[in-house]
Amino acid sequence: MSTAFESARRIADGVFWLGGCLSAFGHGEEVHYHVNAYLVIGQERTALVDTGDPAHRAVVLAQLEEALAGRPLDYLVPTHPEIPHAGNLPALLERYPDAVVVGETRDYHLHFPEHAHRLRPLAAGESIDLGGRELELLPAHIRDLENTTWAWDSGAGVLFVSDGFSFIHDVPGPDDEDEPVHRPGQCRLFSGEMPEPPSVAQAAYGTGRALYWTKFVDVSDAFTAIERILDSHPTSFIGPAHGNVIDDVDGMLRTSLAAHRAVYQGSAVG
Ligand SMILES: [Zn+2]
Ligand SMILES: [Zn+2]
Repeated sequence: MSTAFESARRIADGVFWLGGCLSAFGHGEEVHYHVNAYLVIGQERTALVDTGDPAHRAVVLAQLEEALAGRPLDYLVPTHPEIPHAGNLPALLERYPDAVVVGETRDYHLHFPEHAHRLRPLAAGESIDLGGRELELLPAHIRDLENTTWAWDSGAGVLFVSDGFSFIHDVPGPDDEDEPVHRPGQCRLFSGEMPEPPSVAQAAYGTGRALYWTKFVDVSDAFTAIERILDSHPTSFIGPAHGNVIDDVDGMLRTSLAAHRAVYQGSAVG
């Protein structure tokens, strides 16, 4: 597996899509797997949601420096303590000595004891004020760890969903891979810019493999909760950690819910 990266993409005013892709060969062609991070720039403060993969550390630091354009990084907001989400924390804390880690940080002192004094627990429902916009932490309704959190930027209406809403587009993953993939050249496309919208089957593939538990859980309640979040938090974009940024929010919600139902019903029958 090798790595590939693109420049950061500005999604909306003050919001940037950072990170890189892991690449592999499947069915005779190269496929990519996103490991994203998102930068939100307020008038006073800046925040990075997730950290990117350590394989992309130099890339993320360079993308960040360019997007910040001389501003410091104030907040690091990893969605949960797994390597693709929190693995660059040490490098980022070193590069930005005044930055603090906020969110559901309950066990981060075990992973990063040397940075324990820079952890600021913040519960779902609470916000950080970036100046002219807020980043609100939200409960993760699709998650793979107990302390996963989502976040929402009030400035541009971007919902950051960690491992939620991952899907593949028009290529199947290689047989030994179980992750949502895209083709080289599609790394920075919004979902609506892809050649075709993802089908329910493709979303089910990514969902069933990446979030194994969804085979056993009827997620209708989770989607009702997600619809409630979208009602109270106007959302123009959804930013997943492992997938293209979604700009067709309503359409993807329908596709993803149908996919979750298909995964659940498929395994209930089988
Ligand atoms: Zn992940
Ligand atoms: Zn890519």
